[in-house]
Amino acid sequence: MDFKSYIRDVPDFPKKGIVFKDITPLLQDYKALKAASEHLVDGLLETKIDKVVGMESRGFLFGPMLAERLQAGFVPIRKPGKLPYKTLSEAYDLEYGTDTLEIHIDGIEKGEKVLIHDDVLATGGTAMAAGKLVEKLGGEIVQFSFLIELSFLNGREKIKSHPVNSLITY
Ligand code: AMP
Repeated sequence: MDFKSYIRDVPDFPKKGIVFKDITPLLQDYKALKAASEHLVDGLLETKIDKVVGMESRGFLFGPMLAERLQAGFVPIRKPGKLPYKTLSEAYDLEYGTDTLEIHIDGIEKGEKVLIHDDVLATGGTAMAAGKLVEKLGGEIVQFSFLIELSFLNGREKIKSHPVNSLITY
């Protein structure tokens, strides 16, 4: 399947200079949606995975779907102040300034096998911070999984100590 034909480029969103990779055309199409989630779990069906961790907010779109396919639970990672229970935080660098991500302290148990999923791998800062949260809780990262990788931003370099899988590469 030509997955790229289901990704829409939106120039200057959310701000000037950014070409936003809009995955809603793919989500809208049942065959593309099914094929994408099948491909993302390909090669993992025989691997033990306890939790799929998804990053706010578009990591929540495929995250629970992948978790269900892998017979795993789903754990959200969110922006500060969004998770209601006790959290662990990790700050990471942006182009200008820093941002923070949070996870519930009981989201992952020590020794659990974890798949980390997001829609887009860009500079890798988000994925690296998510990885740190998982490892602080004692989770073992099995794979970083993305629908889209913007390879020209070299995000893979930041998380190369673990396997990285992406369905669509630009
Ligand atoms: P980064 O931390 O730079 O790897 O950025 C990854 C996060 O930003 C992901 O959660 C993406 O959803 C979002 N993101 C970054 N660049 C884009 C883009 N060009 N199109 C859509 N989402 C993006």
